[in-house]
Amino acid sequence: MSVQSNLLSVRKYIPEHVKLVCVSKFHPDEAIMEAYETGERIFGESKVQELCGKYERLPKDIHWHFIGHLQTNKIKYLVPFVELIHGVDTYKLLSEINKQAAKEDKIMNCLLQVHIAAEETKFGFSPDELLETLSAGAWRNLKNIRICGLMGMATFTDNHDQVRKEFRTLISLFNKAKADFFADNNSFSEISMGMSDDFKIAIEEGSTMVRVGSSIFGNRVY
Ligand SMILES: *Cc1c(COP(=O)(O)O)cnc(C)c1O
Repeated sequence: MSVQSNLLSVRKYIPEHVKLVCVSKFHPDEAIMEAYETGERIFGESKVQELCGKYERLPKDIHWHFIGHLQTNKIKYLVPFVELIHGVDTYKLLSEINKQAAKEDKIMNCLLQVHIAAEETKFGFSPDELLETLSAGAWRNLKNIRICGLMGMATFTDNHDQVRKEFRTLISLFNKAKADFFADNNSFSEISMGMSDDFKIAIEEGSTMVRVGSSIFGNRVY
């Protein structure tokens, strides 16, 4: 299957109000260009060096999203051109991003990652940590950060009920955070959840942004 025909079948499930992030990590520039030529503009990458190379070489109207785990010493490479950082999972990282964004005189869009899966390996704030961090309020002083919403990854399992339950956890946390901390802040509006295996469930549960890789580009060769 070509990237183009894969995209046609993926798009059938994605309503107008949901953004599609084409996760192109580990795939070559040519694959990205195929998706680009059928109209896609949002691409997600998880390695800083790979992303920076692709940014240099590919069209400048691509909106690059960083979806990986970010180390503080690499923030500076992303801030100049990345549109959204999905996986911010500590206050320290948020404040480091703020520092680099201030140097660039930019406001950096970020999503706070919440740990909703049963697996222990996935990154993210626990629901309690998230609410504690927001309650503490120091984030309000980070003038070069815009918190645009939450991001989460469900457990990798065939058990759809479990996946659905985890997405509901993220939605209810979003609603609580919105009501308690962002009621008058329209920027807090995104819920990034759903990947190739579970994006249809995620959309049913209220995702506003799905991150789809292998269903578009095929399997990754690491
Ligand atoms: C790789 C990755 C994806 C895409 O996964 P697929 O199963 O290939 O769709 C989505 N989100 C994150 C955070 C990823 O690292």
